[in-house]
Amino acid sequence: MAAPDRPEAYNAATRKSSDIFPEVNTLNPVSFADLKLAPALLKALTESGYVHPTPIQAEAIPQVLAGHDLMAGAQTGTGKTAAFALPLLQKLLPLASASTSPAKHPVRALILVPTRELAIQVEESVKTYAKHTSLRSLVVFGGVDIKTQTPHLKNGVEILVATPGRLLDHIEQKTVQLNTVQILVLDEADRMLDMGFMPDLKRILALLPRTRQSLMFSATFSAEIKKLSEDFLIYPTLIEVARSNASAENITQKVYMVEQADKHALLTQILRGEDASQAIVFTKTKLTASRLARQLQRDGLSADAIHGDKSQLERMQTLDAFKQGKVSVLIATDVAARGLDIDSLPMVINYEIPHAAEDYVHRIGRTGRAGASGTAISLVSPEEEKYLVEIEKLIKQKITKETANIEHAPRPQRAPRGEHHERTPRAEHHERAPRPAAAPKKPSHDPWFDKPYEPSAPPPAPAAKTETHVAKPKKQVGALLGRRQG
Ligand code: AMP
Repeated sequence: MAAPDRPEAYNAATRKSSDIFPEVNTLNPVSFADLKLAPALLKALTESGYVHPTPIQAEAIPQVLAGHDLMAGAQTGTGKTAAFALPLLQKLLPLASASTSPAKHPVRALILVPTRELAIQVEESVKTYAKHTSLRSLVVFGGVDIKTQTPHLKNGVEILVATPGRLLDHIEQKTVQLNTVQILVLDEADRMLDMGFMPDLKRILALLPRTRQSLMFSATFSAEIKKLSEDFLIYPTLIEVARSNASAENITQKVYMVEQADKHALLTQILRGEDASQAIVFTKTKLTASRLARQLQRDGLSADAIHGDKSQLERMQTLDAFKQGKVSVLIATDVAARGLDIDSLPMVINYEIPHAAEDYVHRIGRTGRAGASGTAISLVSPEEEKYLVEIEKLIKQKITKETANIEHAPRPQRAPRGEHHERTPRAEHHERAPRPAAAPKKPSHDPWFDKPYEPSAPPPAPAAKTETHVAKPKKQVGALLGRRQG
């Protein structure tokens, strides 16, 4: 439960740890057993190959076990999922039941996340850590038929991972009850705010018991996040882990100054290089993502795109193929890639650099995870240089600029003008309101570009209702990203 007797905790308990895993492990070789985790959890961790807790785990686990609310500054890649999942499971262990009766498996922990992909990954982690216990977990998210989720919910589940909109759908249909929730986790809280989830969160929060433990994770600490934490948390312990700073030493960052028209040739060249056994290529728009996937396929590369115009099923299939190594180049937009956790991804390429510097940090954080090394290459056209300046300001670092030596192969006509940009994450996750009618397309030089995207996967099941998001301007990055710690 929360600790109202510790009013000084919010500011006084600010903790700082090193940037990446190995450093901390040598300096502070804490083991999971030192954190007093139960044997069933330790067994699962050993089987997952975890040796030492990451900084956020070493800091957060004792705090959560002690019952404190938590405000943690950490992004994907720091091991934050286990930082909340392990103590949460430990606290629920005494309540675990082997009974098949749904009544014996009420929802005791609710984990709210902004995207479907993150929801799936978080629940997979929870399942892995809980595999030697009888605690049940389930994930529910929009974009798939709600009826497929209902029977699982009705069977009873202690740990529910959900996107806010779909959870509200289930609440409306009375397929889930939240009055037994003891622990709430808000994961990637800054993203939830960016995506306009605040009204949904407030509705959900109003349905939870007032006496509960609440944990909030956010990559950035903006004024809005601080406000959210004041509303939802009681005297939380504040923990910061600054791996989110793009200066993570294990990521080599490079910039190629290149004309827009030469980007495709350069990209193909990089992807054919030795270092790019697997890579995520980021584009700004969905249209560029699908077009590039087609171009690279024609170049003989095994590439596929993941973006919001694809159904949830297609996105999951593409991601699986990439994870299994069947696809070596995944082309993604920022929204689609959010929260993706792909082990040992050696390279991230920014085909177009993001206009929001914060997104650069999120993008390159897809490589160099869990202490592994990685390369982040950005192809920057003269028009994009102004965004590069902003990125360098944010990460407090100049990125090495190289001039590309492009071997020109015969290539298709230039990309068309007039692509519509993926305006906001809302467009991608707009699961309730109908999509606005597409604007009439401008004719392009190459008729191929006017053809709709043809998915490589079989046609998906029809999408269900969608989540509500309210448009909000994108925020500036908060203090955490700008700060570097020793
Ligand atoms: P997360 O930040 O929770 O998305 O985790 C990032 C990656 O680190 C995931 O692939 C986890 O499986 C992995 N990971 C988490 N904790 C540890 C640990 N203590 N040791 C090694 N890998 C870990």
